[in-house]
Amino acid sequence: MTSSSIWHPFTQHGLEPAMTPIARAAGAWLETPEGKRIFDGVSSWWVITHGHRHPKIIAAMRAQTERLDQVIFAGFTHEPAEAVADGLLKIAPEGLRYLFFSDSGSTSVEVALKMALGYWKNTGQSRSRILALEDAYHGDTIGTMSAGARGVFNAAYEPLLFEVGRIPRPKPHHAQPTFDALEIACRRGDVAAFICEPLILGAGGMLMYDADTLKEMHRICKAHDVLFIADEVMTCFGRTGTVFACQQAGIPPDILCLAKGLTGGSIPLAVTMCSAPIYDAHFSKDRSRTFFHSSSYTANPIACAAAAANLEVWRTEPVIERILAVSQSQALCLNDLAADARFVNLRQTGTITAFEIADTQAGYLANVALDLRARLLERGVLLRPLGSTVYVMPPYCTTKDELQFVYRSIVEAVDEVLS
Ligand code: PMP
Repeated sequence: MTSSSIWHPFTQHGLEPAMTPIARAAGAWLETPEGKRIFDGVSSWWVITHGHRHPKIIAAMRAQTERLDQVIFAGFTHEPAEAVADGLLKIAPEGLRYLFFSDSGSTSVEVALKMALGYWKNTGQSRSRILALEDAYHGDTIGTMSAGARGVFNAAYEPLLFEVGRIPRPKPHHAQPTFDALEIACRRGDVAAFICEPLILGAGGMLMYDADTLKEMHRICKAHDVLFIADEVMTCFGRTGTVFACQQAGIPPDILCLAKGLTGGSIPLAVTMCSAPIYDAHFSKDRSRTFFHSSSYTANPIACAAAAANLEVWRTEPVIERILAVSQSQALCLNDLAADARFVNLRQTGTITAFEIADTQAGYLANVALDLRARLLERGVLLRPLGSTVYVMPPYCTTKDELQFVYRSIVEAVDEVLS
């Protein structure tokens, strides 16, 4: 353990005085400088897909450093970026024709919101209202916090946030209130876009809903010409069992946000894909219709080389089979918890499982979370419960034995915490 002057993300330093140094990682494991191994049960904040340091992705980044490190992306392009574009267009939901690079999940969503507003402005229609789900999380920048749920995370910044139309989150087997509210909100005629996390609201508590509900939400938006933004920052590249969660509903979003698993989790990169009408609305001889967004590192070549290698891994390795195997092992482990009354609302979507610890304080600030996290870490398992919600989101290289170790550790840690 060490202390330093670094201010860490989502960390209350008053309660967590020391950070755990990590020196190495391989597959599903992190390692401290002293050689203690820690199972990465949250895929290092949901980014690592195949496992840490996939050899092809690492080799591609290394090779790229020998050719081109960085170049301004306005007025220039490069082979790794073009390879990512070609690869993504081949696998993305139908209708997505163009893509815009950025650096993080939050920026991919900011870009999506700006594309939507730009589309309506450039087509001469006054639509600027954004609709979003209750309990949503879309990032920590001002625009994405505005679209996300309001709560302790953003209370201090509330004066900076813009108002969005809030749609009730679809509850399992009870999505009608969502459809009704969406229908009413869309009918106002001033809605630019509806944004949602397909199939699973991540940071809001791993709240899951089915593909038919996603399909119906999409249908309602389309019936009212409302742009449908799929925030697949967390779900993309296999987490829900398919490359993109939207595929399970067979829906083509107008705008698709990708980050995290885009590079296999090795290096930051994000992409916002959009349909031809959105690009066309910005395409003009008139410079005022330009899509005004950039950041210094847009489409960094090393990050693009990692993403292109990730696409190659998907093309050439049995990734879906690995995902299926992890999903099946997860189901077995979850099933073993079912008889224990302390674990409730057991649920799974693809490789992700979640449940609540019964009779504990709910909400993100629930004390049980820190306590559980510390006890799991002692046992060599990295999990970050969201309040009383425990979830397991492992990399796809994870074995059944490793998962059994994780769940055994959860039970032991809960035994201690609740004793
Ligand atoms: N959207 C979703 C659905 C996310 O889960 C996240 C991150 N957890 C973000 C956006 C923001 O991504 P980033 O942290 O890379 O900015």
